[in-house]
Amino acid sequence: MSTVPAFKWDDWYAAVGGRSISIDEVNELLKEIHQDQYTRFEGPVAGEKHVFDSAEIASAHLKEKAKEFGADLVGVALIEPSDIYKGRTVTESHAIALGQRMRWRAFQTVPSHDSAVECMRVYYTLGETVIKLAEYIRSLGYACRVEHPIGDSDILHIPIGLKAGFGELGRHGSIINPEIGPLFRMGSIITNMDLAIDHPIDAGIAKFCDNCRACRLYCPAKAIPDHRSPEAGKDHLGNDRYVVDTGKCFPYFAKHNYCSICLPVCVYNHKEWARDFEGYQTGLWPDIKMENPPAEADIPRELRHDFPVLPRK
Ligand code: SF4
Ligand code: SF4
Repeated sequence: MSTVPAFKWDDWYAAVGGRSISIDEVNELLKEIHQDQYTRFEGPVAGEKHVFDSAEIASAHLKEKAKEFGADLVGVALIEPSDIYKGRTVTESHAIALGQRMRWRAFQTVPSHDSAVECMRVYYTLGETVIKLAEYIRSLGYACRVEHPIGDSDILHIPIGLKAGFGELGRHGSIINPEIGPLFRMGSIITNMDLAIDHPIDAGIAKFCDNCRACRLYCPAKAIPDHRSPEAGKDHLGNDRYVVDTGKCFPYFAKHNYCSICLPVCVYNHKEWARDFEGYQTGLWPDIKMENPPAEADIPRELRHDFPVLPRK
């Protein structure tokens, strides 16, 4: 169970100048997530434990199951104190990170009705994947908890995804996977199962970001930085971090269909997606709607999703 009250999204949106995204499909999906998925986070654990011959075999088996349930990316990481939101208690040792890609065809115009619906669609479908895997783990006799892709997580999905080998942290603050780029969402399951872990990868992406500034150029709120910030600490490969200015990004994103411009303009969206595997005609570059940014927000500390800045082991 969560150790602090649920995050106050309405207050948070008010603090960033108000949410003006009103799309029926988005609202319907949000309602289903809250009313149907949130009630399935917990469940009975089978009395008899399935014993795996090794931690490697256990990890490989759960990864195969996660893919069967709809994950495009899956990896395992140890949970460190720096991965846990302030005020939360996590006693589990391992996180199984899951990623599911969003469709390139929904990001042909950004921000847009289609891109907003796609973000929420994947929050919903990945939520189903995470819940199904949690139910499966419990059927094997192991306790676990769901960390839903949208909502009130106890752990931070991004550092867990980096440790689980999902990719590298881009200038835009999202993880870039070498094969599927940055257009994906993440969720996790946390457990004390003995699992073999994955490791951060170096695919040369962070180095590429130092020369490419496409996301910065097209960010309407000017929230993406020109330089890395040594004072913000290192990422998992030892690089100083790029720090996105959330006080500029959030007010824009809350008023413009979750914005998302920085994701489809990222050059790591591989162009074979333009063929669209389900037959949809797509272009190689999105139509970008940049409007004047609203006032910057100074989000009160009690309304932030706060996390500790700790040196990594
Ligand atoms: S979501 Fe939009 S406003 Fe926020 S960083 Fe990306 S491009 Fe900028
Ligand atoms: S658009 Fe360029 S600078 Fe921005 S995250 Fe992608 S690769 Fe890095």
